[in-house]
Parts: sequence; structure tokens; C-alpha cells
Amino acid sequence: MRASLLEFHDIAPEVRHFVFEVPEVEQLQFKAGQFVSFKETLNGKKITRPYSIASLPDRNRFELCLNLVHQGIFSPYLFAMKPGDSVEMSAPLGFFTVRDPAKEALFIATGTGIAPFRAMTPDYLAHPNAKQLTLLFGVRHENTIYYRDHFEALAGKHPSFRFWPTLSRAESSWTGHTGHVQSHLLEAIGDRRDLDVFICGLKAMVDDVRAILKELGFDRKQIVFEKYD
Ligand SMILES: Cc1cc2nc3c(=O)[nH]c(=O)nc-3n(C[C@H](O)[C@H](O)[C@H](O)COP(=O)(O)OP(=O)(O)OC[C@H]3O[C@@H](n4cnc5c(N)ncnc54)[C@H](O)[C@@H]3O)c2cc1C
Repeated sequence: MRASLLEFHDIAPEVRHFVFEVPEVEQLQFKAGQFVSFKETLNGKKITRPYSIASLPDRNRFELCLNLVHQGIFSPYLFAMKPGDSVEMSAPLGFFTVRDPAKEALFIATGTGIAPFRAMTPDYLAHPNAKQLTLLFGVRHENTIYYRDHFEALAGKHPSFRFWPTLSRAESSWTGHTGHVQSHLLEAIGDRRDLDVFICGLKAMVDDVRAILKELGFDRKQIVFEKYD
């Protein structure tokens, strides 16, 4: 199938929110947390790159959150797209989805690793038996807390949802969490060891968090992760 770009807007320097539609289907079927793979021939080579869907199923539309990798191949191509342009894509895939919404959960993201959680958070909270959910989101500065309004609105509506952005280069006016996501794991987990943890972002952070969780006594099966690199 082909995905046609409807619109985009920049949500931070070199970070863009894209809205696509797939004109040949009426409803694009996927679960919150899955990704699509884009394919294009670039510099004479067929290139494929996966991107997490940052929206809930809505007719034939889906949204993405991407950062520009300057030395990269595919992200500069996507950043050059204009509304009306299209790109080849595969049907949504992936196992980074909430398994048991009746189980307490911790979501951990850095940077554009927030993309799948933009869909998984409302998906989890919509479940009638949803338990406590914490989203720990690491970025550098306050003005790069992507989708802040979206998550704050969810936290306002669902007392069982805690939204904890943490800033690694916080300005002095910031009163929230500071430092890396790794430093707030214990605070988020407390003495609980029976929750599911979902981690999304670059390899270094994901591996670090997994190692800490294993040391704390978490089982492999309780840790679900998506590495972007
Ligand atoms: C399942 C899955 C879902 C993904 N979802 C997203 C998403 O929602 N948003 C998104 O921006 N990316 C996402 N990615 C990464 C994406 O597929 C590409 O790797 C990324 O756009 C870079 O591609 P490129 O061709 O421009 O650069 P490449 O030439 O492939 O890579 C250049 C370098 O950039 C590094 N890199 C890869 N991804 C990133 C990143 N996001 N930020 C900084 N450095 C990176 C790689 O380690 C590599 O060293 C996802 C990856 C996977 C495996």
C-alpha cells in the first residue's frame, strides 16, 4: 500500500508530527503500539525503515513522530515530503502492545520513543479494569516534552495515570523530575515487582533500563521493549 501525507507540524526543533492516510483502505487495522514500515528506493537502493504509530486507529489515518537524523537516509527523505506526496508502506506489525491492561504498568520513553505511548496510554486507560499507569518520559528541555498537553489532559482525567517528564538539562524554573529516566525507576516502581514495564527509545537507554530492572528482580517476560537503533 501507499501512505499519502495529509499534513505535518513541527513539535520541537527537528522533530515532526506527521498525519498520513492510506487511500486504498477504509480502515487501517492495527493495535496501539505497532509500527508501519516505509520502503523507498533511495540512492539506487531499496531502503526500509519502521516507524511506531503515534495515534489510535482512526479510519484510514495514522500519525507518526519522527526526529531528523542528519546523517541518515530515510528520515531526511520523510522530512522533505510535502502534503500530497506518498510513500510505500507495509501493513502495521509488531508486538510492542499492552498485553494485560488489568495489570499495573510502567511506560518508559526517551525522545521520539514517546511515539507508541501516545497511542498505548489512552488505549490502556480506556480499559475498564485499568490499574495504575506511570509514564516516565526523558527529554532534555521543558520545551521538548512532546505531546505534553495530550498526556497532561489524560492525567487530569485519570487519577490512576501519573505523567512524569524528566529533564536532563532542566532550566532553573523547572520543579518536576530531573536527570535521566534511569534515576527514577525505583521511585516509579516502589516495592512492587508485579508490574509490566514497556521501554521505547535508543538502544543505550533501553539496555540500561533492562539491566536495572533485572537487578531489581524483574522477570524477562515483564519487560517489553522497542529499540529504535
Ligand atoms: C520498531 C521501530 C520503530 C521505530 N519508530 C520510530 C519513530 O517512531 N520515530 C523515529 O524517529 N524513529 C523511529 N525508528 C527509527 C527509524 O526506523 C530509523 O532508524 C530512523 O528514522 C533513522 O533512519 P535514517 O535512515 O534516517 O538513518 P540511518 O542511516 O538508518 O541511521 C543513522 C544513525 O541514526 C541512529 N538512529 C536511528 N533512529 C534514531 C532516532 N530516532 N534518533 C536518533 N538517532 C537514530 C542509528 O543508530 C544510526 O546510527 C524506529 C525503529 C524501529 C526498529
